[in-house]
Amino acid sequence: MNINPKSKIKIVHLGGLGEIGRNMMLVGYEEDYLIIDCGISFPPADLLGVDLGIPDMSFIKKISHQIKGILITHGHEDHIGGLPFLLEHTNAPIFSSKFTHGLISVKLKEFGSIAKTTLKIIEPFEKISISKFSIQFFNVCHSIPDAMGITIDTPLGMIVHTGDFKIDHTPTDGKLIDFQSLSSLFSKGVLALCSDSTYAELKGFTPSESQVTNTLYEEISSAKGRVIISTFASQIYRIQQIIDACKRTDKKVAVVGRKMSTNIKMALKLGYLNDSKNCITDINSLLKLPDQKCVMITTGSQGEPTSVMTQIANETHPRIIVKNGDKFIFSSSPIPGNEPQVVKNIDKLFKQGADVIYNKISKVHVRGHASQEELKLMISLAKPQYFIPVHGEHRHLVAHSKIAQEMGIPNQNTFVIKNGDVLEITPHSAEVTDEVPAENLYFDGKAIRNVKSHLISDRKELSRHGIIYISINSLNINSSNPSVTLSSYGLFDEFTDYEISENTGNFVQTLLANSSSKDIDLDTIKRKLVTEVKSFVSKVTGKKPVVIVEIHH
Ligand SMILES: [Zn+2]
Ligand SMILES: [Zn+2]
Repeated sequence: MNINPKSKIKIVHLGGLGEIGRNMMLVGYEEDYLIIDCGISFPPADLLGVDLGIPDMSFIKKISHQIKGILITHGHEDHIGGLPFLLEHTNAPIFSSKFTHGLISVKLKEFGSIAKTTLKIIEPFEKISISKFSIQFFNVCHSIPDAMGITIDTPLGMIVHTGDFKIDHTPTDGKLIDFQSLSSLFSKGVLALCSDSTYAELKGFTPSESQVTNTLYEEISSAKGRVIISTFASQIYRIQQIIDACKRTDKKVAVVGRKMSTNIKMALKLGYLNDSKNCITDINSLLKLPDQKCVMITTGSQGEPTSVMTQIANETHPRIIVKNGDKFIFSSSPIPGNEPQVVKNIDKLFKQGADVIYNKISKVHVRGHASQEELKLMISLAKPQYFIPVHGEHRHLVAHSKIAQEMGIPNQNTFVIKNGDVLEITPHSAEVTDEVPAENLYFDGKAIRNVKSHLISDRKELSRHGIIYISINSLNINSSNPSVTLSSYGLFDEFTDYEISENTGNFVQTLLANSSSKDIDLDTIKRKLVTEVKSFVSKVTGKKPVVIVEIHH
């Protein structure tokens, strides 16, 4: 094939670098682009009130007509959660495995964006051509069925994206990574490898999912009372292990929670879950059985505030009240940042008399990402010319780049880049040549906001210091005894701080009586009140509240 000496590949990430989640990568060749994944992230606890982190779509808007296809590695939210936002700008077809296709369909229906695009199922090693790209997916092991890595062959060479992966020699669904096909696919040479860095800091190998099978069986069979297990709604392997344990112990299992029920129905229908002995039953029938026969599966393994697990821990769930003898199993490990909420729930459940089993005390969970030895295996299999660590905080990317260098990939061929960097690969070189917008955006109610939005910092101020609202009638301004209405939120405790609150009211009155004069305009009075009240309250309470003054006529 004749290659235009000026042609180049562009690799751009709009999320997933220097952060966990929001994974999204673009591969461009000449005029055309492919997108790999479009995920969301869970916002850190200090971003008060925001719901989801989403990728910045400014660059997508600019090249929307050049996007030829969307390739999805697997169905986790940090890889598909952003699709409804992406489909506002493109109707390029979406390619994924069968199970991922099921999850995407559910999501797009929920957002009403299913009609905007075509969804195509692709089998491992099936070849598809999109403009000058030739694409093949390959199956990998992960914590969700049908996870895939992707190879994109271009006239300049092959780009490989591993997606999230681990190497499991005894996966519970029996689907091993097909190393033979993979190595023959890679044998023509890999130009660039983009590989999962989530656990690049961890030495050794990630344990196999099948290690959890026995532990879960033992915990379920030894339970004298009810068992309530929380895991991710998409953790189908774990759900299968629970169904199997119920089958062996002659117990019944009910699914509590809407999202998990939807996923399980879909997985049963597509054959990714097997319930040959009809162990699954509805919650009403389950609760009529003797406690020893009852197993429940639910979400909330991350301590999410509205989840069933948190409701049970807070004693606010309408149906499930903790009994002596109940056993709770957290079959997951908290995503960094979620630990405080999770351990709080564990403590609350213990206090109510339940037994709680979690990863630190029993092997009820294994990780879904590769550790160092598996990452090395992937690098030695691909033998890439260029290496780009992806998916992870900056330190994970650095750790992964060091592994690649140890394995002989030259320093200058390893790229620890950031979201927005445009990495250009030509027949002779690779370098970051440009930058596109890739801001930290968050979905806040129904609005999209920048992390720098003053609303976010306002909320922090409000939550830390509270608010005082002062209402004055303008007719009162010149009076010697002006009438003032003062209310506050999050500042004065109505039972213990009554006096301080009254003193603040008196202070405002004195201030008005002393400063009132026909010469001073209302804005000046307002400004003065805000500053003086803030400083008065700060002296007596140590807090700097937001002060709002309204003068009405
Ligand atoms: Zn994943
Ligand atoms: Zn992921």
